[in-house]
Amino acid sequence: MLVLSSPSGAGKTTISRALMAEEPNLTLSISATTRPKRPGERDGVDYYFVDHPRFEAMVKAEDMLEHALVFGNRYGTPRAPVEAALEAGRDVLFDIDWQGTQQVSSRMPRDLVRVFILPPSHAELERRLRTRALDPEEVVQERMAKAADEMSHWDAYDYIIVNRQVERSVAEVKSILTAERLRRDRQVGLTEFVSRLRSAA
Ligand code: 5GP
Repeated sequence: MLVLSSPSGAGKTTISRALMAEEPNLTLSISATTRPKRPGERDGVDYYFVDHPRFEAMVKAEDMLEHALVFGNRYGTPRAPVEAALEAGRDVLFDIDWQGTQQVSSRMPRDLVRVFILPPSHAELERRLRTRALDPEEVVQERMAKAADEMSHWDAYDYIIVNRQVERSVAEVKSILTAERLRRDRQVGLTEFVSRLRSAA
């Protein structure tokens, strides 16, 4: 499980899209949210857009791996698709905030790799939030204020990437993925493989 977190505007969505295009063994976890759909977003692709009662029902039924309140809207990770992907031997990419990361960390600490993406500067963060122009001004203002709060959780992550240039950041996340997949305890069947190698020697 690979978690990417960042304040909005740091470039996380661009990075995760590029990763998904380049990493065939990666499944993107699609979150459920109560926030309104933005122009261009598609239900079941960007998010599952649900109303509050439906979200609450999923939480009550323990269908969420984690869930959190972010900017007044609820967000959560549906559990079943994640478990199915992991059982099929696939890696799963999560675009979730620090609260969700904390919950997954305490529930499934062993197979989790946490990456935090920082913007190169405050000015650049503000510029990115403005040029996106997807949200009303008050939401942009609120997100600038919340960015500082989100960034205060950087030290609960395993890796930190300063997103100066998207291609480089994507390459860095791919390096993390490669290294983490090569960890001894993540390689299935290694004991048998080595013993076959040794007995043939
Ligand atoms: P946005 O509304 O801009 O798509 O996302 C706002 C924030 O919610 C982002 O920081 C994003 O990572 C976070 N988020 C999206 N989905 C989830 C989720 O399923 N769980 C949690 N905890 N946070 C999420």
